[in-house]
Amino acid sequence: MRVAVIGAGAAGLTAAYQLCKGGANVDVFEAGDGVGGLARSIDLWGQRVDLGPHRFFSKDARVNRLWLEVVGRDYRMVDRITRIYFRHRFYHYPLKPGNALRNMGVLNAVACLGSYLKEKIVPYYPPRENETFEGWVVRRFGRKLFEMFFKSYSEKLWGISCQDLDADFAAQRIKKFSLGEAVKSALGISKGQHKTLVDRFAFPIQGTGIVYERMADYVNQHGGKVHVRTAVKRVLHDEHRVRGLELADGRTEEFDRVISTMPLTLLVRGLGELPTAVQHAVDQLRFRNTILVYLHVDGRDLFPDQWQYIHSPELGTGRVTNFRNWVPELYGDAKTTILALEYWCFDEDAIWTEPDPALIARATKEMESTGLLNGAPVIDGKVFRIRRCYPIYARGYRKHLEPVVDYLRGFERLTPIGRYGAFKYNNQDHSILMGLLAAENILERKTHDLWAVNSDYESYQEAAVITETGLEPEGGAAAPEPVRSSAETQALTPSAR
Ligand SMILES: Cc1cc2nc3c(=O)[nH]c(=O)nc-3n(C[C@H](O)[C@H](O)[C@H](O)COP(=O)(O)OP(=O)(O)OC[C@H]3O[C@@H](n4cnc5c(N)ncnc54)[C@H](O)[C@@H]3O)c2cc1C
Repeated sequence: MRVAVIGAGAAGLTAAYQLCKGGANVDVFEAGDGVGGLARSIDLWGQRVDLGPHRFFSKDARVNRLWLEVVGRDYRMVDRITRIYFRHRFYHYPLKPGNALRNMGVLNAVACLGSYLKEKIVPYYPPRENETFEGWVVRRFGRKLFEMFFKSYSEKLWGISCQDLDADFAAQRIKKFSLGEAVKSALGISKGQHKTLVDRFAFPIQGTGIVYERMADYVNQHGGKVHVRTAVKRVLHDEHRVRGLELADGRTEEFDRVISTMPLTLLVRGLGELPTAVQHAVDQLRFRNTILVYLHVDGRDLFPDQWQYIHSPELGTGRVTNFRNWVPELYGDAKTTILALEYWCFDEDAIWTEPDPALIARATKEMESTGLLNGAPVIDGKVFRIRRCYPIYARGYRKHLEPVVDYLRGFERLTPIGRYGAFKYNNQDHSILMGLLAAENILERKTHDLWAVNSDYESYQEAAVITETGLEPEGGAAAPEPVRSSAETQALTPSAR
């Protein structure tokens, strides 16, 4: 069976890796010049960095087992330190009661509690807005906390008002988290730690991207081929039965199956003339871009966080990553620090086309204004622009996504997965799970509904988390499963980079 995979990110490479292990003949086509997609690592100023912060975390034993199979023992546990910068103050996140109280002051804290109790105690009449992100958060945290900790960050990220943002975003990312749970967690009396608060995580010593570099190496060494700098123009089909691909350079290739992680909108538009309703629906699906500005700072101990959320509305950046605080292997002997500032925008925003030196100057000025540089000079800068990296869950987006999904379900042998591939706000674990299940559908003729991953797919067969010693069943009910790298994945050394 010849399978084509479009895109060498977490979803595409996981599918390719699994398919290769199962004996399929796989070709991966990647438009970029390296593998890993959004989760790639790059060498910069003699150090190794990711595209912004990349904390891997999953409770799904299948996802964690695969991650450990590829990473082997080449990871360290990182103690999470992250804070929120708001109105010139730094709030620990996860919240620490003493720190939060000191920063916001007693009056503000009482106001937060009052607005929370108002949501909890006042009868729900008239029925409150729960379809929007704003409504969802206000009901769980109160308006005051929404305004302090959710509004400005979310509006920077998505570029639309929180009233125009769908509650799905909160439901997927914040889930059952509430003020009550945050307080229990801060006081150490919470039962299972909420996913957004996890305070230790496993991180590969060669950066996040090594996971996908090793998967690609495996594919290349076991009969498959990862073709970088090879963009796919469209998927070819006969009467909705897939038969191959047309590449951007005009070549065509025949395949029995296609797994696509290219942007859903571009995939659909490439399939030929669309029914009017599908055409209209796909035109409503939008993405948000990211500009990453890396700053090379001549200093070492700037601040302890792996990343900080920048809520202050007067600053354009939304998040800053400090790569010196992940694992020492990333910077080795270097005596400098690399920071990455994220700016989110649309194609038509002026900042998207702002020249690199202006962006570097803007980022430097913003960092200086926070006091986080402690006077250390910025000696260099580098800019990366990433298009379409956030699928926008605008209010009611599902009614546009559904006709597109229904249309795609009508194509035989085509499997769209991944973050922009399936229009899901995925983390690596969701994309890995999609890749795993897509491969199972093909190899074992299973019928997993891949559109349900990262929406309704909560039924883990087995819950287990990664610890220093390997995979530990949740609740510590059994001994940890030791890290077992297969001989093949152990043989994949970084020299293959
Ligand atoms: C700043 C930032 C921070 C993040 N932080 C975290 C985090 O802390 N934890 C976490 O787990 N996740 C995080 N993520 C999310 C994580 O990076 C993604 O969920 C994951 O990488 C998505 O993998 P994917 O394969 O679905 O998509 P992608 O990584 O986008 O891969 C798709 C690939 O397809 C290629 N492609 C597109 N079009 C074509 C075409 N026409 N032909 C050929 N190839 C094509 C692209 O070049 C890309 O390589 C973060 C993402 C960003 C941007």
